[in-house]
Amino acid sequence: MNSLREIKATCCYCGVGCGVIVQTDGQRVTNVRGDPDHPANHGRLCTKGSTLHLSADPVIRQQARALHPELRLQRGLPREQASWDVTMDFLARRCADVLRRHGPDSIGFYISGQLLTEDYYVFNKLAKGLLGTNNIDTNSRLCMSSAVAGYKQTLGADAPPACYEDVDHADLIFIAGSNTAYAHPVLYRRIEEARRRHPQLRVIVADPRRTDTAREADLFLPILPGTDVALFNGMLHICLWEDLLDTRFIAEHTEGFDALRQTLREYTPQHVARVCGIREEDLLQAARWFGGSKAALSLYCQGLNQSASGTAKNAALINLHLATGQIGKPGAGPFSLTGQPNAMGGREVGGMANLLSGHRDLANPAHREEVARLWGVDSVPATPGKTAVEMFEAVRAGEIKVLWIACTNPAQSMPDQNLVREALQKAELVIVQEAYRGTATVPYADVLLPATTWSEKEGTVTNSERRITRFRPVLEKPGQARHDWEIVVDFARRMEGLLGRARSLFPYENVEQIWNEHRETTRGRDLDITGLSYAVLERDGPQQWPYPEGAAGGRKRLYEDGVFPTPGGRARFVDTVYRPVAEPADARYPFRLTTGRLRDQWHGMSRTGTVAQLFAHTPEPAVLLAPADMERRFLADGDLVHVTTRRGSQILPARASEDIRAGQAFIAMHWGEEYLSGRSNSGEPSYGVNALTTSAYCPDSRQPELKHAAARILRA
Ligand code: SF4
Repeated sequence: MNSLREIKATCCYCGVGCGVIVQTDGQRVTNVRGDPDHPANHGRLCTKGSTLHLSADPVIRQQARALHPELRLQRGLPREQASWDVTMDFLARRCADVLRRHGPDSIGFYISGQLLTEDYYVFNKLAKGLLGTNNIDTNSRLCMSSAVAGYKQTLGADAPPACYEDVDHADLIFIAGSNTAYAHPVLYRRIEEARRRHPQLRVIVADPRRTDTAREADLFLPILPGTDVALFNGMLHICLWEDLLDTRFIAEHTEGFDALRQTLREYTPQHVARVCGIREEDLLQAARWFGGSKAALSLYCQGLNQSASGTAKNAALINLHLATGQIGKPGAGPFSLTGQPNAMGGREVGGMANLLSGHRDLANPAHREEVARLWGVDSVPATPGKTAVEMFEAVRAGEIKVLWIACTNPAQSMPDQNLVREALQKAELVIVQEAYRGTATVPYADVLLPATTWSEKEGTVTNSERRITRFRPVLEKPGQARHDWEIVVDFARRMEGLLGRARSLFPYENVEQIWNEHRETTRGRDLDITGLSYAVLERDGPQQWPYPEGAAGGRKRLYEDGVFPTPGGRARFVDTVYRPVAEPADARYPFRLTTGRLRDQWHGMSRTGTVAQLFAHTPEPAVLLAPADMERRFLADGDLVHVTTRRGSQILPARASEDIRAGQAFIAMHWGEEYLSGRSNSGEPSYGVNALTTSAYCPDSRQPELKHAAARILRA
């Protein structure tokens, strides 16, 4: 038997970013345990993290993984295995041809918050630097773009100001639009521990469902879906009238409060309680606890972000923190929880259609010039790139001819699956770079590029609290799979040859060289990590940014000096106005359908779906309904129902849940067509919950409203 060794890495699921110690015999991952030295988890892991080794089982690696490049020369033909050389040559020639005939914006990249920062960096340099298109967006658009826009509008930069340690210093934790107990379990354990140690710590939860997180709260606000802006404005209205504002902080460190004050007049407790569907006394209690606390920490996630008002929801909550001075001190601050393991890293390298490296803005000509100079190219294109939904619309419309999808499964995870699937059929060339061959997107691939994944890759990730961790390989690459960055660099060099570029923009021989180039793009920026070499990460372990050259360590908490990264150094109040959901319930579609996560599954289940134990908690999909709605429709637990929205229909078992209000329904996001096929007796394909969701999006962040749709529910 080979000797065992242990290597430090991170869990590849949620944005808590727990450190793991991976045990291997060189052939397989034999065990995983929490890293006691990692500041994000201090040795704890949740069910998903503690079963990571099972998802890397040799049988699963053999059966579930994409192991060879495959391509088809013509639609309708099956893909066939080909060598990397033939595949990449084919790709480069097809892309060069499309580029010549239709221009750079005829190519689009849809990538992922699961990629490592270095992968993200080279993808962006390929699109924006070499090919000359900003058509590169990511599934982080479905996850964090409202948080990005909310931070930038109010605080001036996309930088979460708080840290996990603030849980231990807060005397009030306000959890809004997040089932933290399921979506960020290890952070939730920390909250539970803090409550045990500090019985005076109060927790308020605002959520349309009585989740496990809500059940444990001191005060639960069961707001109607999409009414968060009204709630936050209402709480601020009460703080204003009850003299709970920090007027000195407002005067010295902010601007724009007077305009907001006018708007707040309308948000009387009576009005807000009616809009939100909550008791007036609970609203008053929430505002008094928040305004009266010494240190209030807000934790929020997709309930705020995945909304047609996502940016306004984020900004309204940050308004509340600014007006009460609850920021820049221990235990206080607005703290967005990142959904994916490296959505933060993607934001840092400018991995979205409207961003550039080092938290720069594409719309800013000076920022474009800086990045062009750093990359050694003449210019970075000014034309805004297509964001996720826009990109698939552009593919369907024939504007984008080539779509390169990496490390994500849009044929399950994007809203409005009809749009996505029509687009994938319409594209001239679909490239799918993927570790797993069974995802719903793979059948659409004209070219399948097998990629490495957790336990095989090397690079860095950034978690929700701005902490960067090295991600180390444990196993050899399976089959012919390559690292994501290697695939991009190979393609880029071939394109450079075809485009006649003499000096390569992609001279990297290893992943550390990419990291070092990325670090340099952050010099002088709010997230400056010029001091954070791989050697420092190796020596000192995971570090928070900023970490500029010469620093002795990262920064735990931002804005402690009351100076914000805006032109005047002041934080800005945003005049937030409540707007209802994009698709209100009506007589034809009377249910408010919401979506969310389960405790033991992750995204579209390409990895967690390979681990039998993770189905023990919830073995199959269902639509949850209030007992009163079940009775009214003469439904018993397990009866099949059609859930129908304006975009499609799904057949699911109905289950009664005391956690749902009458008139609401809930479906978990994880199950896709491979699990649902065969259920439909209407001949309709079963694409999963995103057959039902709407692609309506927030005008500022372009993040779609995955959390809400109007639905009809009838016995099947
Ligand atoms: Fe992994 Fe998140 Fe669980 Fe930590 S909390 S072990 S990062 S899934």
